[in-house]
Amino acid sequence: MSTSEDKKNGKPAIDTSSLKLAQADSYNALIKGNSEWVERKLQEDSEYFATLAKGQSPQVLWIGCSDSRVPANEVTGTKPGEVFVHRNIANVVVHSDMNMLSVLDYAVNVLKVKHVIVAGHYGCGGVAAALSNKQFGIIDNWLRHIKDVYRLHANELDRITDETQKQNRLVELNVSEQVYNLCKTSIIQNAWMERHDLEVHGWVINLGTGLIKDLKVTSSSPHNLGYVYELDSVNAAAQH
Ligand SMILES: [Zn+2]
Repeated sequence: MSTSEDKKNGKPAIDTSSLKLAQADSYNALIKGNSEWVERKLQEDSEYFATLAKGQSPQVLWIGCSDSRVPANEVTGTKPGEVFVHRNIANVVVHSDMNMLSVLDYAVNVLKVKHVIVAGHYGCGGVAAALSNKQFGIIDNWLRHIKDVYRLHANELDRITDETQKQNRLVELNVSEQVYNLCKTSIIQNAWMERHDLEVHGWVINLGTGLIKDLKVTSSSPHNLGYVYELDSVNAAAQH
């Protein structure tokens, strides 16, 4: 409702009371959802949280998109404690990203995960944005990594005329390139020198069916990296 004061100041009258109510509702729903979840879990297992609090030993590191529709645990039918998670827009592995490198190092060298999975998804807004020439702000700098993927595969992608098919293919190629980027890291290569139970995989989730497509780009050794990226062991370097 407009007040006489609003009229005096010449400001447009805005009724904020219903906006504030909706704001409070969406926030309170989270707290309510949490208490209902706790109740449900305790009904299933009265020791659930006591057990969870003791520690984690996940076998999997999930590097996925920040998109709200691809939560790692739900998609894979796993429970809290089973998947270590890193997410960013369009599941990109950038070799100078300290956040990603810290997560990767901790997962590989402390938690000793056996699988690192790059999980992209069809209908990815980040990939769609990278395909366009529009400016979106700061995010353009992040999405440029996906434009770089496009450039590497421009021969194939330029031939696809259907926009959805082109976008879907770029989603797949982006995942494959990020798997490759993971394998280039000294973290993964040093781990492979020490143990043989670490695999890097690439998946795409189909939001329309919920199903995972394994892109069959699994790597478990540095042998396909090429001479530019394959690293000597630290010990071998010290001997020179
Ligand atoms: Zn996405």
